[in-house]
Amino acid sequence: MMKIANISKSFKSGSNNKVILQNVNLNISNGTWCTIMGPSGSGKSTLLNCISGLLKPNEGKIHINDININELYENSLSEFRRNNIGFVFQDFKLLPYYSVLDNVILPLVQDRSKTELVTRARKLLVEVGIEEDLYNRLPKDLSGGEKQRVAIARALIAEPNLLLCDEPTGNLDSDTRNQIINLLLSLKQNGQTIILVTHDEEVAKYSDNIYQLINGKLLHKELIK
Ligand code: ADP
Ligand code: MG
Repeated sequence: MMKIANISKSFKSGSNNKVILQNVNLNISNGTWCTIMGPSGSGKSTLLNCISGLLKPNEGKIHINDININELYENSLSEFRRNNIGFVFQDFKLLPYYSVLDNVILPLVQDRSKTELVTRARKLLVEVGIEEDLYNRLPKDLSGGEKQRVAIARALIAEPNLLLCDEPTGNLDSDTRNQIINLLLSLKQNGQTIILVTHDEEVAKYSDNIYQLINGKLLHKELIK
């Protein structure tokens, strides 16, 4: 179970304080898929960053399976994140000087045997539809859609309980998008929890719950008139 209790987040710009998230509450049962929608700039990425522990909310608490992530110190937080949370960033964040295969294994290369990781990375790359001839390429020689799929494979390398996806199908054609939807559904069937940000109703309709982030507030879609 993950519980977001009353979190608020604002950013200072000069003497102004810009409120992005205002008393956001969200409970998500393990093994469910929750979608967050909302206009550009409404704070969707900020919310995902707070959930992953990359940003600290100004107020409120985030519990992931009874662990209050805001109480973890830097090292324990990084370790917790590495082992429990997969993050597909909106801008991919692939490392430019590493090959596709190395990008995918990188999160765990310190912790596990390379042979084991490479085997798993190859399996994941097949699942996201990346062909073998791309494994040694650098990110700059990939299309947007290919980068996005490599980023998804990387997020899954640690078999995380919680997968956070920031517009993971934004650069994909409809066939590849369907492939990713099927992958997410099969992950969910294996018990993974998914929180996904998207503008795409076609993707959102497969989720268990849809929320809208509007003016700093998170509302369940059924409650929006
Ligand atoms: P979304 O993902 O919904 O498009 P974001 O969460 O990226 O929205 O951004 C919400 C707002 O917060 C934007 O106005 C953005 O400029 C601002 N913002 C995001 N990150 C920062 C930051 N680190 N410092 C200051 N402002 C930020
Ligand atoms: Mg965003």
